[in-house]
Amino acid sequence: MPKDFLAGVLPEYDVVVIGSGLAGMTSANILGRAGHRVLLLEQHYKLGGLATWFKRPGSHTFDISLHGFPYGMLKSCRRYWNEEIAANIHQLNNIRFDNPMFSLTTTFNREDFTKLLTGPFGIEPEAVKQFFETARGMNFYDDQSMTTGELFEKFFPGREDVVRLLMEPITYANGSTLEDPAITYGIVFSNFMAKGVFIYEGGTDDLVTKMQAELTKNGVDTRIRCDVSKILVGAGGVQGVLVNGREIKCKAVVSNSNLRSTILDMVGVEHFEPQFVADSKAVRLNNSSTQVYMALKPGVTIPESTGDLLFCSTAPLFRTNLLLDRNITSRTFSFYYPKTRPTGKERFAIVSSTNANWSDWANLTEEEYAASKQDLVETTLDALEKYVPNCREKIELAEAATPRTFHHYTKHQLGASFGTKFEGLAVSRGLPQQIQGLYHAGSVGIIMSGWLGAINYGVIVSNEVDSLLCKDSSILPVN
Ligand SMILES: Cc1cc2nc3c(=O)[nH]c(=O)nc-3n(C[C@H](O)[C@H](O)[C@H](O)COP(=O)(O)OP(=O)(O)OC[C@H]3O[C@@H](n4cnc5c(N)ncnc54)[C@H](O)[C@@H]3O)c2cc1C
Repeated sequence: MPKDFLAGVLPEYDVVVIGSGLAGMTSANILGRAGHRVLLLEQHYKLGGLATWFKRPGSHTFDISLHGFPYGMLKSCRRYWNEEIAANIHQLNNIRFDNPMFSLTTTFNREDFTKLLTGPFGIEPEAVKQFFETARGMNFYDDQSMTTGELFEKFFPGREDVVRLLMEPITYANGSTLEDPAITYGIVFSNFMAKGVFIYEGGTDDLVTKMQAELTKNGVDTRIRCDVSKILVGAGGVQGVLVNGREIKCKAVVSNSNLRSTILDMVGVEHFEPQFVADSKAVRLNNSSTQVYMALKPGVTIPESTGDLLFCSTAPLFRTNLLLDRNITSRTFSFYYPKTRPTGKERFAIVSSTNANWSDWANLTEEEYAASKQDLVETTLDALEKYVPNCREKIELAEAATPRTFHHYTKHQLGASFGTKFEGLAVSRGLPQQIQGLYHAGSVGIIMSGWLGAINYGVIVSNEVDSLLCKDSSILPVN
C-alpha cells in the first residue's frame, strides 16, 4: 500500500501554507510561533523550494541557489528564524568581473564601487554620489514609469561599460532587464551595496535542516509529497484545500506556489472579478535558468583568488537578451571552497549559472534534450578553462540542469527562477481583497524575489494572516 503522507493530519487548521520555499516556510514559522495551527504542504520530497541542493557519490553536495544575497538576510534570519541560522551568514569578498570591457575584483559594496567608478571608470564623484542616493531613496510607492535603462542614461549617458558593471550582476540575481521599472533595480542594487554579498556557511542542506527543526519547535505540521490540487472557496472566502485527494479545512491559505498557478489553476477564474482575472493573465513570468554543476576530484584544489563569484562574458557589449540566449556568451561561476561546508569532507565545487528561456528547452525530443544538456556541459567546461586551467582533468563529474529541471521540482510555470515581472506584485497583493483568507507569498515583482525578497515577503504576508486570524474570536494566539 502506498505511504499516506497525510497520516495523522487534523481535519482543520487555522492556516494552510502551500509550498515550502523560503517565503512559505517563513510564513509558516511566524504563524506557528504566534500560536496558530499551521499545516505546511510541500509537493516535493524535501523542503526548501528553489533553496535546495543535491548530493552525488564521493561526498559531493551541490547548491542550486546559494550564490549570494544581501546583508539583510542576517537580520531577517535572526528575527524570523533564530540566532543559530543568522550566525552562519558570512560575506563573500572576491566578486570578479571578466569581460571584453573590463576585468576587476570587488567587494561589491558602495565604498568599493565608488572607488571603481571614480577611479578606473573616470566618472565624476558627484554623479556617482547622486546615483547612489537616487537608487537608495527608491521605494515601491515611487513613480514607476522610469526604466532602469533610463536611470543609467540619466547618470552615466552613453557609458555601456558602467551599465555593465552596475547591471550584469542584478540581471543574474533576479532576471531584471533595462526595460523593467527603475525601482526594481534601485531597491535590489541598494540592498547589495549596503554591505556587499553574503552566503550561508554550512550549505543549503544545513540551512533547511535548521529551518525544519525550528518549524517543528513552533508546532508547524509539515508534510512533504503533498500536492495541493485545489484551494476550496465558498461564500465566506477560503474554506480549505484539496491535497492528495483529501479535503482539509482552514480559515486562511498562504500559497507559495507560482502566482499564476495559484489563481488560474488552484482557485479557478470563476471566483475572481473579471478585471482581476485579466490582470492575472497579463502577469509575465520571469525567465528561467540553466546550471552546470562540477565537482573537483578529491585532493584537487583551486586557490581562493579564483574568486567566490565570477561574472564572465565574451560578449563585446552587455545586452540583457544576450544573457538569455541559448548560444551562451555570459555565465556566473560560483566557486565553493571547503569553507562552504566546514564540517564536511574537504570538497571543492563549481556551479555555472546562466539565465535561460523556457522556449529553448521545452519542446526538444528526449534525444535532442540529452544532446543539448551535454553541449551545455562541454561549452561550460570550455569557458571555465580560462579560470581553472586543465579543468577537464581536475573535474570528477559535471551535470546540467535546465528550465525543465526547475519546472519539474517546483512546478513553476515556464521553469521561472525568479517568479514574475513587476506587475505580479500588485496581483499577489490583491488576492485577499478578492477572496477573504487567500494570500500569496513568494517570488514576485522582482523586488520580492531571491532569498531575502522571498523571506521578507513571507514576513509581510504572515503579519496580515495573523491579523485576520486574530479578528476571529475563536482563535487565541499565544503571543
Ligand atoms: C538557478 C537559480 C539560482 C538562484 N540564485 C539565487 C541567489 O544566488 N541568491 C538569491 O537570493 N536567490 C537566488 N535564486 C532565487 C531564489 O532561489 C528564489 O527567489 C527563492 O528561493 C524563491 O522562494 P519562494 O518562497 O518564492 O518559493 P520557491 O522556492 O519557488 O518554492 C515554491 C515551493 O512551492 C512548492 N509547490 C508548488 N506548487 C505546489 C502545490 N500545488 N502543492 C504543494 N507544494 C507546491 C514547490 O514544490 C516549492 O517547494 C536563484 C534561483 C535559481 C533558479
